[in-house]
Amino acid sequence: MTSSKRLTIAMQKSGRLSDDTQALLKRCGLKLNLQDRRLLAHVANMPIDIMRVRSSDIPGLVMDGVCDIGIVGDNTLEEAALERKLLGSNCEYIRTKGLNFGGCRLSLAMPEEFNYQGIESLNGLRFATTYPQLLKRYAQENNIDIDFCLLKGSVEVAPRVGLADGICDLVSTGATLEANGLKEVEVIYRSTAALIQNPTPLSGEKQEIFDTLLQRMQGVMKAKESKYIMLHAPKDKIDQVSELMPGKETPTVLPLAGRDDLVAVHVVATETFFWETMEALKALGCNSILVMPIEKMME
Ligand code: ATP
Repeated sequence: MTSSKRLTIAMQKSGRLSDDTQALLKRCGLKLNLQDRRLLAHVANMPIDIMRVRSSDIPGLVMDGVCDIGIVGDNTLEEAALERKLLGSNCEYIRTKGLNFGGCRLSLAMPEEFNYQGIESLNGLRFATTYPQLLKRYAQENNIDIDFCLLKGSVEVAPRVGLADGICDLVSTGATLEANGLKEVEVIYRSTAALIQNPTPLSGEKQEIFDTLLQRMQGVMKAKESKYIMLHAPKDKIDQVSELMPGKETPTVLPLAGRDDLVAVHVVATETFFWETMEALKALGCNSILVMPIEKMME
C-alpha cells in the first residue's frame, strides 16, 4: 500500500501515452527527472512519487491501492476491469477525468476484399486482438458469435498469415490498417487517456495534494484549448467585433493612448479562432490582430 504522505501516480514508462503524460505533469508544475532507469521517481518540489510501468499494469496498480492515481487509456482500463471482474479480483476504480490526449478507437477490420454486409456477416469468424474482453462484450451486446485469438502486438498481420479472419485493434488515423490491406468495418469502443483513482478515500494530506493537482490539470487542459486574442478595433464597431468573437465571449475593451477612434480588444477564446474570423475582423477595420497560446489558467 502507498504511504500516507506522498501521492503515488502510475504512468506509462514508454509508449504512446508517456510523452503527453509527462508533459501534462510538468505543466502542472511537477519537477520530474525521468531520465534515469528508476521505476519510482520522487518529484522534487511536491510530495508526489511517480511509478513508471507498462500501460497494462496501471489499472491493477490503482485498483489494488498500490498507486493512488494513474493515467491510462480507457481501452486498457476497461479491458482490465472486465478481466479482473471475471477473475474475481478487485476491479473498483473512479475515472476522475478524461484527458485531451491518447484519442483512438478500437475497431474491427477485415481484409479489403472481404464483402462486408453489416455485423451479421462477421458471424462465425475469428479475430486477432489484444482486447478479448472488450471484443466479447461487443459480440454479446450485438448478438454475434465470433471467436478470438490473443495477440499482444503486430495484430494487423494475423489475417495475412492465416491466424484470423479479421482483427480487433486500436486505430487512430487508419494508416496502419491501410498499409496492411485492411479496412475498418465497425468501431466498437472510443478511448482517450484518463485520470483514474482508487476509490478508498485518501488521507487528508494526500487529498490536498490531489486537489491541487486536479485543479492544475484542469487549468492546463483549459489553457491548451484556449487562445488569447488581442486586436485594435474601431470604437464604433465594438458590437460587431464582439459578435464575431468565438463563442461570442465578452471582450475586455481598453482605451488606446492618443487614439479616439480605436480601442484595444482582448478576449480569451475557448473555441477555434478561424482565419475567416480574422479576415472578417479586418474587413470591419480591425488591425494588429494577435492570436496567442495560453500557458496556464485559473478561474
Ligand atoms: P505498454 O507497452 O505500455 O504495455 P501498450 O501496448 O498499450 O502498452 P502503446 O502502444 O504505447 O502501449 O499504447 C498506449 C495507449 O495509447 C493505448 O492503450 C491507447 O490508449 C493509446 N493510443 C492512442 N492511439 C493509439 C493507436 N493508434 N494505437 C495504439 N494505441 C493508441
